[in-house]
Amino acid sequence: MSVNLKELPAFSMKHDTRTLPALVDRYGRVFNYARIALNERCNLRCTYCMPEEGIDFQPPEKLLNKDEILRLVRVLATLGVKKIRFTGGEPTLRKDLSELVSASLNTPGVEEVFVTTNGLLLHHFVDDLKEAGLTGLNISLDSLQADRFKKITRRTGLEQTLDNIRLALEKGFASVKINVVLMRGFNDDEIEQFCALTRDAKLTVRFIEFMPFDAKQLWCDGDYLIRAKDIVATLHGLYDGLVADKGSETEHHHYRITGHLGSVAVIPAFTRSLCQNCNRIRVTADGQLRNCLYSGTDYDLRDLMRNNASDEQLVCQIREAVGAKAIDGIEARERSVSKVAVSRISMTQIGG
Ligand code: SAM
Ligand code: SF4
Repeated sequence: MSVNLKELPAFSMKHDTRTLPALVDRYGRVFNYARIALNERCNLRCTYCMPEEGIDFQPPEKLLNKDEILRLVRVLATLGVKKIRFTGGEPTLRKDLSELVSASLNTPGVEEVFVTTNGLLLHHFVDDLKEAGLTGLNISLDSLQADRFKKITRRTGLEQTLDNIRLALEKGFASVKINVVLMRGFNDDEIEQFCALTRDAKLTVRFIEFMPFDAKQLWCDGDYLIRAKDIVATLHGLYDGLVADKGSETEHHHYRITGHLGSVAVIPAFTRSLCQNCNRIRVTADGQLRNCLYSGTDYDLRDLMRNNASDEQLVCQIREAVGAKAIDGIEARERSVSKVAVSRISMTQIGG
């Protein structure tokens, strides 16, 4: 949603993280977590995300630059955002990633910064990220078999990704998680092998429901979705000693397997049963605020910044977006499909 600067009220604001009211929606949810996409491009072509030829990538000048991202981080922090996640596209393709991490952590109010990556290039940046103070990494990996890795990502690189997961653990980040998009007939027979990774390593394996953001490749013509409740049932069937544990806000299904150092989680990303716990907002690589993954409405922050908007005007736009948030992702999707076109068809355009 683009905004005419003149329509926005100007008001005075002290740049003090304690003086601005938090971001709260009409259902009382508090938003203290921002996921910021750093780019749309990627070195992989996961079948559940992008076609082989990629998507209609936007030119670099349409994407937020470092100063714009850091300005948003600062403004969001004044509104109580404490946790930042950089994602994409593939964030390690951005040369300024470590700088963004370190500058974000130096922003008053920001307590934790995470990166979500496919992990393939991590060995080049892991030391810089550690030095920058990065809190944790989510590394996406959908199969432990080389031929399947290639089938899913359309590239080679399983061994490098596994080496880089080990490297992340060795470096001692506070949190290392593996994201597995579980799909029927692709990798659903590997649940046990993935769980085995948590036996001797302090990592969390997260099984994520497949969502319809695959650039219209697979979603319509197959029964690939495996629902969270079925994944949870499979886990209970595999392990007697499955102990429920507290995970993050959307990791309600979070477990420890008796005798394992790490943990497992199931993310109901499609069935959307945890929307009442939502605490996150998203900024796309081209600077559009999205109040829900399933929403079709963009709240333009990039053009506001490029048209010399004040911080107060950015705050107004952010509050308007939060105020308009649907009760859950189901309602958000219903609102968006009633629009003429849903413009963002791949996770890489939204920021996963
Ligand atoms: N390239 C990085 C990566 O793969 O980790 C960051 C961006 S990616 C879009 C962020 C997360 O979204 C990844 O964990 C990926 O597996 C997940 N993802 C992508 N498309 C998805 C889909 N259609 N359904 C569920 N998860 C998806
Ligand atoms: Fe790239 Fe991540 Fe999408 Fe895979 S899921 S194609 S790694 S952006």
